[in-house]
Amino acid sequence: MFVSENLGVNEKGHLTAGGVDTVELAQQYGTPLYVMDENLLVKNAQRYKNSIDKFYGGNGMVCYASKVFCCKEVCRIMNNEGIGLDVVSIGELYTAFKAGADFEKICFHGNNKTDEELEFAVDNKVGRIIVDNMFELERLDRIAGEKGVKANIMFRIKPGIDAHTHDFVKTGQIDSKFGFALETGEAMEAVKKAIACPNVNLKGIHCHIGSQIFAIDPFVEAAQVMMKFIADIKEQCDWEITELNLGGGFGIMYTEKDDPVPYEDYMEKVSAAVKESCEKLNVKLPFILIEPGRSIAGPAGITLYTCGGVKHIPNIRTYVSIDGGMTDNPRYALYQSEYDAVVANKADKPKDTTVTIAGKCCESGDLIGEGMALQSAEPGDIIAVCATGAYNYSMSSNYNRIPKPAVIFVKDGQSRVVIKRETLDDIIRNDI
Ligand SMILES: *Cc1c(COP(=O)(O)O)cnc(C)c1O
Repeated sequence: MFVSENLGVNEKGHLTAGGVDTVELAQQYGTPLYVMDENLLVKNAQRYKNSIDKFYGGNGMVCYASKVFCCKEVCRIMNNEGIGLDVVSIGELYTAFKAGADFEKICFHGNNKTDEELEFAVDNKVGRIIVDNMFELERLDRIAGEKGVKANIMFRIKPGIDAHTHDFVKTGQIDSKFGFALETGEAMEAVKKAIACPNVNLKGIHCHIGSQIFAIDPFVEAAQVMMKFIADIKEQCDWEITELNLGGGFGIMYTEKDDPVPYEDYMEKVSAAVKESCEKLNVKLPFILIEPGRSIAGPAGITLYTCGGVKHIPNIRTYVSIDGGMTDNPRYALYQSEYDAVVANKADKPKDTTVTIAGKCCESGDLIGEGMALQSAEPGDIIAVCATGAYNYSMSSNYNRIPKPAVIFVKDGQSRVVIKRETLDDIIRNDI
């Protein structure tokens, strides 16, 4: 009935998240409100960790892709669970730093890292810098040299795999802004150059083929292509690549149309493919890293809004207006991403209307979704949008000078604030 395993309905007919009454949360903390189920967040991360233990002898590491939802508390939680972090900017890196995360377990990504970012990473001994291009390699080699250290790196490779997903979230094909292409020989050239660089240590190679992917085959294919490249490097450069980072991208259920595979199946198939390639190509079994983001945080989150009004436009559509919108969830405006919504205070009632949920920004495209099935909504109702734990808070903005909502975590019947709601003074804090 619900898209995430942690959602339910209580005896009052209210929607619950992680066992907590969401209508009460809306009353206590106000709306809009992001609610994350801490137990589900941890459970999802542990599912990946356990699958590496089970199918790959524990010879690997999970790095949570923090861009999907980054704040100090989530960095602390992942760190406590032995999960590494994948970061893409100095802001995410700084958040991890302030949270006391283990920098050895950080993978630092990005297709245009600045000198400031590289220096921060080198100074704080980031475990792996994922180098995207030749310019970055040269700059990093210089920066590490100036500091008298050797930086551990991986190369971002475009394996040339079609990930069967939305064009905007595909990243493994040759026409991508990320990484080095294999087909053109660019990747091998970079490897040779890195081996010759005195201040970098090429530990591994990385690929990330896209996001919201449901099929396992593209991941298996990508792993095979990467293993072949490891063998080519050994043969052509006499250099052993000891780590293989396979990125993230596993799909989740946003609506009933989505049919994700169990996380464990992914690791089972990919481990088998890597082991087989090793035997066939006579290379050592690499340490494996994976970087799930959406599939860890997405299902753990919901967003609560208050309905302010309902507009019936005869023979056209019904707009249900909420007190948030593209400022807290820009994904429909960006990629027409679909969501499931529930009237939280009528969660036991049938969804007998079809509506467009509209935000409060001055944009006609400010919608959470169109053609959505919903219980009959009235002003004052609490509307819950499900599976918003990933790419929502992290993509939020202050457009129209709307303050960002609070994020609260629920766990074992309790709730607590993890990110405070922005105040009006926060909105003008940098204005002169
Ligand atoms: C975005 C991204 C991820 C996470 O992708 P999900 O689809 O959220 O799992 C992992 N690695 C890299 C390099 C990324 O850019």
